[in-house]
Amino acid sequence: MFDYLIVGAGFAGSVLAERLATRSNKKVLVIDKRSHIGGNAYDHYNEDGILIHKYGPHIFHTNSKDVFDYLGNFTDWRPYEHRVLASVDGQLVPMPINLDTINKLYGLKLTSFEVEQFFESVAEEVPVIKTSEDVVVSKVGRELYNKFFKNYTNKQWGLDPSQLDKSVTSRVPTRTNRDDRYFTDTFQAMPLHGYTRMFEKMLDHPNIKIMLNTDYKEIVKFIPFKEMIFTGPVDEYFDFQFGKLPYRSLEFKHDTLNEEQHLAAPVVNFPNEHAYTRITEFKALTGQKHSKTAIVYEYPQAEGDPYYPIPMPENAELYAKYKKAADETPNVHFVGRLATYKYYNMDQVVAQALTLYKKLTDKEEAAKPVRPAIAGSTSLVEKLINREPSKE
Ligand code: FAD
Ligand code: UDP
Repeated sequence: MFDYLIVGAGFAGSVLAERLATRSNKKVLVIDKRSHIGGNAYDHYNEDGILIHKYGPHIFHTNSKDVFDYLGNFTDWRPYEHRVLASVDGQLVPMPINLDTINKLYGLKLTSFEVEQFFESVAEEVPVIKTSEDVVVSKVGRELYNKFFKNYTNKQWGLDPSQLDKSVTSRVPTRTNRDDRYFTDTFQAMPLHGYTRMFEKMLDHPNIKIMLNTDYKEIVKFIPFKEMIFTGPVDEYFDFQFGKLPYRSLEFKHDTLNEEQHLAAPVVNFPNEHAYTRITEFKALTGQKHSKTAIVYEYPQAEGDPYYPIPMPENAELYAKYKKAADETPNVHFVGRLATYKYYNMDQVVAQALTLYKKLTDKEEAAKPVRPAIAGSTSLVEKLINREPSKE
């Protein structure tokens, strides 16, 4: 009999498996329908021996020392600060928009103070900021919104920014200084030997058994377990009883080129040209030396693997129905980006999983007759989840 059946071997499932096995001595079975562990953060060496991220670029950044230290138990880190250029009006300019972006785009020599005045002069007045369009036009005006955000967002989500919750474009700040880092989090680093190696270390414990290439529905009736942790799409768990929750998908086109370096930055965004949104060059992220280089193009899709929950009011309403059903399902715990329908980064999912672990152990402590219950703390996950914009 397993204590826990964990569906999904991504961050959410693996963190819980690791904690439950090593800290609580629980017997755990981790099941994933894919052929590998790591979920969307899975990386591997391609046939030329270059480390690539199968499901698109994964850059680790967090403001949580707890999360960074926790993952540091399973990997050494390579310091890495991410940078992105956007292809706009025939030029490659820093993204997020900063002082250099404006000066390069318009051939100006503004100072930080002057660019602040420039933004004020073009910004639109928006009484209540609700949508992803509001966020941008209220800061940098319509023209820059059209050049950098409108079409990229239309491609990425199949929706206009005016239809999407403000949280989506709030992820990308605007700056009046020359800071060209994509993130400003306190901790920014890549796992030195890759994500998959880190997951292997997390899951390497005699109490943890792993079953790959298996949909949990195929085996759930045959395997005895006490509680389930579910990290797949929440609507799928409930057989879509309230309707399908929309998730946005991507198609990844990987390529290896016979040159040492291909791009002028680790990632180049293409808001206005091409069907793809961005190209990533993996060696820039991993620091690997190789005479060839591997890149990936991201083509947004409506159908396919569910990668992004789509933050908009009607989806939040639909998710609320599934959340209620989830809360009323005894002995099944829903955690992670798909199961809680939240556009979370990796660190937020780790924090959410650590918080669930604490809740589970608190519950167990409370059930013991001789020891009083210890109040559960949700401060870590709340800190990460409620911050907005999440990259600043
Ligand atoms: P997942 O990694 O999706 O794991 C869920 C697992 O459950 C999957 O392996 C799936 O196969 C399995 N599963 C689902 N249903 C079943 C079933 N029925 N039976 C068995 N198994 C099942 N975050 C960052 O912090 N930085 C980044 O740079 C970044 N870049 C990203 C780029 C892209 C293109 C995408 C899509 C995401 C990115 N993220 C990034 C987000 C990051 O991928 C997620 O936060 C994280 O991987 C979520 O972990 P998870 O465990 O919740 O879900
Ligand atoms: N975005 C944009 N133009 C860009 C970069 C981002 O319009 O050049 C918008 C787009 O809607 C995107 C969102 O901002 O989905 C969040 O960007 P981020 O880079 O965080 O997306 P992710 O890495 O999660 O795909």
